[in-house]
Amino acid sequence: MSEVRVVSSYVADGWYAPATATTVVRSPVDGRELAGVSSEGIDFEAVLDHARSVGGPSLRKCTFHERAAMLKELVAVLAEHKDELYELSADTGATTSDSWLDIDGGMGVLASYASRALRELPDERFVLDGDPEALSRDGSFFGRHVRTPLRGAAVHINAFNFPCWGELEKFAPAFLAGVPVVMKPASSTAFVAEKVVEAIVESDVLPPGTLQMVAGPIEGLLERLTGQDYVGFTGSQQTATLLRGLDSVRSNSVRFTAETDSLNSAILTLSHGEGSPEIDLFVDEIVREIKAKSGQRCTAIRRAFVPESAMEVVIERLGSRIAGLTVGDPRDPETDLGPLVSTSQVAEVDKAVDILRAGCELATDPARFGLEGLHPHGAYYAPTVLVAPDGDFEPVHHVEPFGPVTTLIPYLDPANAVELANRGGGSLVASVYSENPELARSLVLELAPHHGRVLVVDTRCAQTSTGHGSPLPHLVHGGPGRAGGGEELGGLRSVFRYMQTTAVQGSPDTIDWNHE
Ligand code: NAP
Repeated sequence: MSEVRVVSSYVADGWYAPATATTVVRSPVDGRELAGVSSEGIDFEAVLDHARSVGGPSLRKCTFHERAAMLKELVAVLAEHKDELYELSADTGATTSDSWLDIDGGMGVLASYASRALRELPDERFVLDGDPEALSRDGSFFGRHVRTPLRGAAVHINAFNFPCWGELEKFAPAFLAGVPVVMKPASSTAFVAEKVVEAIVESDVLPPGTLQMVAGPIEGLLERLTGQDYVGFTGSQQTATLLRGLDSVRSNSVRFTAETDSLNSAILTLSHGEGSPEIDLFVDEIVREIKAKSGQRCTAIRRAFVPESAMEVVIERLGSRIAGLTVGDPRDPETDLGPLVSTSQVAEVDKAVDILRAGCELATDPARFGLEGLHPHGAYYAPTVLVAPDGDFEPVHHVEPFGPVTTLIPYLDPANAVELANRGGGSLVASVYSENPELARSLVLELAPHHGRVLVVDTRCAQTSTGHGSPLPHLVHGGPGRAGGGEELGGLRSVFRYMQTTAVQGSPDTIDWNHE
């Protein structure tokens, strides 16, 4: 195997790197070797034991407010390492604005959770849920609910596309709840997660055992989980299904939340025919989603539904905007789209696009982006817009090209648009472009059971909207069915997922406690 530097894992409060890598990660910019990854020699039983016997107890000594104060400190710590993180992030293919989403976005989630905990959680180690309920006529017997942290470990398995935000958005709620974390970043971008953990560890802010990170495969770790542990997974549907099906996970009812593939959609409606302001809002959003992380976002718009009468104008306006984009080195400020994360990801996207092209027309010209002039070992991909003949071409509802690719699909009427959007089998997000609040509301109510988030964009909120693709700490991120059936973020909801809610019954003296 190669002599490349191996990404270190942080286990049992110490750094460890095997001498040789089992996987070598290459830069998608120019193909040079960046780092190796291997978890050989890591004792997963010891990792879990350290979390449960050292991390959990040290974290549970702290109140929610003390944990929140530590999260706040971490924001300042990471801010000091921003330059290094941006530099490493460019080697994942991220442009500066992509890195902003990942790095500043990750710090933003920590800050948001810290403030929310200080505002909305007591300075305590448990949470009372609701008021006491009288259970006897004479007032001698009551019941109520209390939330306490799980006594195990939170194992967080992440996708390659957000090595900073992805780790931190899972870490913040678990840490606040009082549950120690074992991170497992995706191998291809583990060298960024390593730097995040290194900065955190060096700061000495966290109690011992509360954060560990394993770079490389973790076979054998999930097999040791109990009902006090938690798995937070982001990645493909296939891996989620495999891990969810493990005996240990099923028979111990391990809490398992998954964020997986998603055929997200955007629906254009027209208030004034071709002069509708919605058209430009819709086109703007598609362009933004194609550019951000070069389309490698779980929330990116994969299916864009357009009234039949507006297909021509949308193809024309979107086509000319896409033709103006620049693909290239992510460190070049002129670049709109950096490379995909790896050449194997390029092959994956190609495979998906080939399936779609069997029934769709290409509305963009790949030759326009001069990819042949870029580094031959880079992982560049031309932004691609496809046009489906109609909504009945089924692959558009099942095949997810995880890159800068979107498909325009004509629809007949609003009922047809939601029916088609819902054919995605459960998605993370849908967006509706409409100046008509009544129509928008009726679409939202039909889309909602199939989506974790629905964004409605009109000219009143277009400037302030946080966009189709951005999950926010305040709002639920997740989706039913195909999207994994999981839920992350959403304010304190995600903290409580790491806690057991217990009904407590007894006499008024026993039940009538208050937070200190
Ligand atoms: P993946 O192959 O499923 O990998 C995701 C994570 O699972 C990686 O950390 C991977 O580690 C790990 N993993 C793979 N096999 C495992 C096993 N047997 N045991 C434990 N961990 C295992 O997904 P991907 O191809 O990297 O990611 C792209 C997919 O993720 C896309 O389909 C996208 O839709 C989805 N995604 C979803 C969201 C969301 O929030 N819903 C966000 C981003 C991406 P290694 O890297 O070491 O193999």
